Amino acid sequence: MSDLVTLGQRIRHYRTAAGLTLDQLGDRVGVAGSQLSLMENGRREPRVTLLTSIATELGATLGDLLDTTPPTPRAALEIELERAQRSPHYAGLGLPVVRAGRSMPDDVLESIVGLHRALVERERQAIATPEEARRANTAQRLHMRTVDNYLPEIEELAQQVVAESGHVSGALTHREVGLMAQKLGFELVYVGDLPHSARSVTDLDNGRIYLPPASIPGGHGLRSMALQAIAHRLLGHEVPTSYAEFLRQRLEINYFAAACLMPRDQSVAFLTQAKSDRNIAVEDFRDAFGVTHEAAALRFTNLATSHLDLTVHFMRVGGDGAVYKAYENDGLRLPVDVTGSTEGQLVCRKWSARAAFVRTNRTTEYYQYTDTPEGTFWESTQIGTSAADEFSITVGVPFADSKWFRGRDTVNRHRSTCPDPACCKRPDGDLATRWKGKVWTSAKLHAHILSPLPSGTFPGVDDQELYRFLETHAADAAVD
Ligand SMILES: [Zn+2]
Repeated sequence: MSDLVTLGQRIRHYRTAAGLTLDQLGDRVGVAGSQLSLMENGRREPRVTLLTSIATELGATLGDLLDTTPPTPRAALEIELERAQRSPHYAGLGLPVVRAGRSMPDDVLESIVGLHRALVERERQAIATPEEARRANTAQRLHMRTVDNYLPEIEELAQQVVAESGHVSGALTHREVGLMAQKLGFELVYVGDLPHSARSVTDLDNGRIYLPPASIPGGHGLRSMALQAIAHRLLGHEVPTSYAEFLRQRLEINYFAAACLMPRDQSVAFLTQAKSDRNIAVEDFRDAFGVTHEAAALRFTNLATSHLDLTVHFMRVGGDGAVYKAYENDGLRLPVDVTGSTEGQLVCRKWSARAAFVRTNRTTEYYQYTDTPEGTFWESTQIGTSAADEFSITVGVPFADSKWFRGRDTVNRHRSTCPDPACCKRPDGDLATRWKGKVWTSAKLHAHILSPLPSGTFPGVDDQELYRFLETHAADAAVD
């Protein structure tokens, strides 16, 4: 019996309704009134035999007393106050515990409970600092590495839900996603006035999931967002109490949506065939299931180790060379800061993720072999452009496994010695001598909130890039 406070409130409710004092009820069930008082205040747990006698005396059933809902709105507030004051958080404040006795007016009780709620909310916001966020993000990435980026329960759930929608193979249609929602008792409603910080809003009372309007008709983003909203319900998510929990939920809904759009059985069949043809290509996987390159590449990392016996790395890197998202279980050494976080760190210029930006033909994937101190990797990169920036999506494997992939015959090969600063971080000697101290620049605020500023003379600006830029344009200045 975990909730003694609610139980106590319910006993009190039925006792006062029966018009009995503590002593009168105590006499009838054979315990002192003071003992009953302790039970009503949630400080003592009554035996079931006593509880049965109390129920009988009060003309109620045992079920009535054990019901977990507060008997009245006032009782709900009293229970909330009791719980708030019992929290370690409140105890740490060194303030007295007040009793919400009958003499406490409703508005005073409401005010105190309201202050407790506000206090908890502020504490929650204070915890979600970028520092906390980065640590939680790193912990999650390292955890996913230990399970090879594979969540079997969510795979199974998605497989079932997709099968029940009648979907067989190929791209999951918008209509099938709507049917899935319907089976769960939800209607998908597209509106233009969602709160700015919400990706979706679910009206539990009326069974409606509100989503933003389709910006690109037929775009995969909309199906994905609807599936994510459905996932919150299917996975029984509660309001997150920590940043780590928030991140875990976000990972789970993204995973579920991806596992619906690219169901395990169909995806593994497709990729296994590609492997036996020695023709694995993320772009084919993407096109077969009608998803974005990033979604296909990430999904590939879920299935590669668990079903194809391949270790892999994945990264999304911005045009500035900073990691937006990365995963590896193949030994590639991702750049990390002192906390172990990789988001916002610059990857080596020699890696495929950055070398691909230089290429002018961007219609197909770019392939290269990268020699690193940790060994040689084969990598495949697709460049894309978002509203804010250009980015690259890379999937790579150790050299020995390149034989399963299209593009293994590439002649592109780069040697990286990062994190050795001489590899690509240190500005060219002549340029540094020429330009050091003769430039002033203003750094952009980094778009990615989790990113720390990369180091340089000007925080956020890469010295090597800056000096090269100056050198290129100095020639123009001379002509003017
Ligand atoms: Zn480098």
